[in-house]
Amino acid sequence: MHMNEECFDVLIVGAGISGIGAAYHLQTNCPDKRYAILEGRDSIGGTWDLFRYPGVRSDSDMYTLGYSFRPWTAPKAIADGPSILEYVRDTARAYGIDDKIRFNHQVKRAFWSTPDAQWLVEAQRTDTGEIVRVRCNFLFMCSGYYDYANGYTPDFPGTEEFRGRIVHPQKWTPDIDYAGKRVVVIGSGATAVTLVPEMAKTAAHVTMLQRSPTYVVAAPEQDAFASVLRKCVSAKFAYAATRWKNVLLGMAFFWFCRRYPKRAKALMVGGVKKALGNDYPIERDFVPSYNPWDQRVCLVPDGDLFEAIRSRRASVVTDRIDTFTPTGIRLESGATLDADVVVTATGLNLSVLSNLQISVDGQHIDLADTMAYKGMMFSDVPNLALSMGYTNASWTLKCDLTCEYVCRLLNYMTRHGYTQACARVNDAVLDKQPMLDFSSGYVQRSIARFPKQGSKAPWRLYQNYILDIATLGYGAIDDGVMTFSAEPRLDRVQPQPG
Ligand SMILES: Cc1cc2nc3c(=O)[nH]c(=O)nc-3n(C[C@H](O)[C@H](O)[C@H](O)COP(=O)(O)OP(=O)(O)OC[C@H]3O[C@@H](n4cnc5c(N)ncnc54)[C@H](O)[C@@H]3O)c2cc1C
Repeated sequence: MHMNEECFDVLIVGAGISGIGAAYHLQTNCPDKRYAILEGRDSIGGTWDLFRYPGVRSDSDMYTLGYSFRPWTAPKAIADGPSILEYVRDTARAYGIDDKIRFNHQVKRAFWSTPDAQWLVEAQRTDTGEIVRVRCNFLFMCSGYYDYANGYTPDFPGTEEFRGRIVHPQKWTPDIDYAGKRVVVIGSGATAVTLVPEMAKTAAHVTMLQRSPTYVVAAPEQDAFASVLRKCVSAKFAYAATRWKNVLLGMAFFWFCRRYPKRAKALMVGGVKKALGNDYPIERDFVPSYNPWDQRVCLVPDGDLFEAIRSRRASVVTDRIDTFTPTGIRLESGATLDADVVVTATGLNLSVLSNLQISVDGQHIDLADTMAYKGMMFSDVPNLALSMGYTNASWTLKCDLTCEYVCRLLNYMTRHGYTQACARVNDAVLDKQPMLDFSSGYVQRSIARFPKQGSKAPWRLYQNYILDIATLGYGAIDDGVMTFSAEPRLDRVQPQPG
């Protein structure tokens, strides 16, 4: 080991909502473990610090997006980005986690050595360019699921001719002025339905231009159940009760959509009809061709999108872009949209483990060749876990459980003197399937680079919170798939006398 290389028991990568949560679980459940957090940016918060577009907010409720261990006490259940950022930062401060973060350390490569039972992790300082090497026994990736450098923008013809401004929501800057201007928001996902009503407050007009419709559901911004409960019982109890209520309602809704897609579709479309009136061409703009939850369902707080459409400050156009023109966008139907500002809410570029280059005992690992174990570790990759949330429920629900499992695993290894834990595929007929089963463009564009899932536990990703409580929270650590070994750690070998 190089003299100035620091060594930790656990290295967490990322100081977003997951990384801060991971640190809390680790220092609470494994207080003997030395850990640090390497964060590529210069601040805490990840997504909630990066995204600065108008109206940025959660699209699931904060009782389930919040941590299990720290009540969300603000009145809004669907919360704005700055409040979520403050919650994550407060949590880091409250538990002394902020002192453990090394900012401006972008992790690029990790090399596992079985004889050393260690990862050698290489990070590049984003402020000085310097390469920093750190060693750890366990690498916990809390690096999110998308590329921070750039969002996804399709190649639209004619953009160079357009005289207005084109901006991707991931690159929003405070100087972008849209008051009194004509705005086109391209897209119909969570970001687009957030942007449209917010920008419509001051823009001359906002058009949401979508290729095809998405399921949009109105939900109350404040949770009445939580508001009443908070007046009667402690904040902690009110939070726990509301969290469970929302978990169960969310699961029931997801189950209903999958079990009875036609009825679920009728229910959701009926909601839009009620909000926009019978004269609105619902079929054209709000009835998707796919079944509910084949892609993410978009939530709009207090129906703000519908209100903006009703008041004619915003409108929806379902069409395809032919080309940008100097003054706007020409559509395939021949219609044109005049615009001063175009926002390309066309999505994210997904990335697995932040495109980390990994090798195990000198062998390069292509994650696409691995199988995901319990949706969080990877076959033949020892002592590495990924904190990745649900696609059909709040992200943090799964991350909290993943952290509990990692802590149980680490404590199990310590108790038995093991230094290495590695999931091995021992089922010759395991069927390999894509890790995510969403038909959305952003998933389909990158799913080939993702690890695979199997057809049964522990290789199957069930996306089911209750099942995960059972398996991640209480399931046997030594399940016959996770293998353990006790390599002598070089840094712990005592020099022999003589
Ligand atoms: C606009 C928006 C709204 C969303 N709303 C919701 C919602 O309502 N509900 C929900 O469940 N989910 C939502 N999501 C998904 C959301 O990203 C997650 O809920 C959650 O914030 C992810 O947290 P994270 O800590 O895992 O990842 P991130 O927030 O992405 O944080 C990852 C951190 O790791 C750092 N990092 C990454 N790679 C490296 C590296 N190689 N080296 C060092 N540091 C690294 C990043 O700089 C970042 O700080 C939303 C996403 C977006 C973009």
